[in-house]
Amino acid sequence: MSTPKNADLLIIGGGMVGASLACALKEKPIKIVIVEAVPLHSQNQPSYDDRAIALAYGSQRIFQGMGLWPQMAPRATPIKKIHISDKGHFGITRLDSEKEGVEALGQVIAGRDIGNVLAEQLASQENVELLTPAKLSDIRYVEGAVEADISQGEQTVTIKAKLMVAADGGNSSVRQLLGIASDRQAYGQTAIIANITPGRPHNNVAYERFTDSGPLALLPMSDQRCSLVWTQWQQDVDEVMGLDDAEFLARLQARFGYRLGALKQVGKRAAYPLCLMQSKEQIRPRLAIIGNAAHAIHPIAGQGFNLGIRDVSALAECVSDALASGQDIGDLAVLQRYAEWRTQDHSEVIRFTDGLVHLFSNADPLAAFGRNVGLTLMEKLPPLKRLLGRQAMGLRGRQPRLNRGLSL
Ligand SMILES: Cc1cc2nc3c(=O)[nH]c(=O)nc-3n(C[C@H](O)[C@H](O)[C@H](O)COP(=O)(O)OP(=O)(O)OC[C@H]3O[C@@H](n4cnc5c(N)ncnc54)[C@H](O)[C@@H]3O)c2cc1C
Repeated sequence: MSTPKNADLLIIGGGMVGASLACALKEKPIKIVIVEAVPLHSQNQPSYDDRAIALAYGSQRIFQGMGLWPQMAPRATPIKKIHISDKGHFGITRLDSEKEGVEALGQVIAGRDIGNVLAEQLASQENVELLTPAKLSDIRYVEGAVEADISQGEQTVTIKAKLMVAADGGNSSVRQLLGIASDRQAYGQTAIIANITPGRPHNNVAYERFTDSGPLALLPMSDQRCSLVWTQWQQDVDEVMGLDDAEFLARLQARFGYRLGALKQVGKRAAYPLCLMQSKEQIRPRLAIIGNAAHAIHPIAGQGFNLGIRDVSALAECVSDALASGQDIGDLAVLQRYAEWRTQDHSEVIRFTDGLVHLFSNADPLAAFGRNVGLTLMEKLPPLKRLLGRQAMGLRGRQPRLNRGLSL
């Protein structure tokens, strides 16, 4: 076996969350190795695909703190208002950036564009080595470190690190190799995404509409397009994916209505089966599990990456503080600080998202009445609405330095 290469931090998975962690630590005097199965600019990159990501205001501030927002801003479309409604029922609620006292409630940016900015930043960082295409194949604990075997084509290299971070998505190989169990609940639903060109300007409004065939979101994008995320029951997916463009638009129009005029054009469609997955452990000695590897959630409220980037800002701060005080970054006490910090946000966002899925995927008239009373109450009770606004903007709980737009 070859001599192991030494690193301080080994990140498995260079998707949106793993790459962001390395970027957040750009000024730190540590050696970071990222292992990524699919090259970042590949057409098949699963993290940086055509999905439009609604970045909460809090996530925008994290990228500001990391110094990356100036590169992202020209590719992003601000969300000024959010309009939530239930088809065929009375309940409607609206969130407005002006009333929340912010310039935008969030920003919509394609996963591919986030990937381009992160890849550019990683290439400029002297403290980062990116191994790709490369895959994790084994993990061992050794004295004062963790060792990982990485397959790169025919070759295997061994990396010895003080801290390993699993950012390798919902089917995390780190979790599998270490026998870390997870709770998994299939929703029996699939999200269909596509870009839509509406007849009227979107005016930077994001629409979330609950319909008899599942919730749908239309997010404002560049060139007056909107990004559609339409949840379908599993049994309907093949039929909806098989519709020709005109039939697809007609079906969508019937569910969404005419707030954006006649829907004129639809781009390439893609389907994502949905589940709720929660890792039973977030940390072990010399290990932290973050992003989708720790929690994969339904995209109904656009919270998945927003939750993952808050893992990044909290972990980056714990690592940075440990370095400043001469502590070992893989020490369990450092990781416990991280895990305790993140518990409340994880459980609140998972409860909120899962609750929305169950409430709004239910055709029962009583459930429909309940949610419409909820939406109406929300509209009439400013404190409740403000709470929803803070949640949507990712501003609840104790905020790490990056979340306040400050550098580490
Ligand atoms: C339809 C849809 C719409 C969404 N919209 C939003 C939204 O509007 N807002 C929002 O906040 N979130 C949204 N999300 C959620 C968001 O996409 C995820 O939370 C985010 O992609 C998680 O990033 P990640 O880096 O943790 O994991 P992933 O994106 O899954 O990346 C994991 C990376 O690890 C690599 N990898 C896997 N296994 C290995 C291995 N063994 N060795 C090396 N590398 C490996 C993969 O190639 C990949 O690059 C949406 C999700 C879906 C499905």
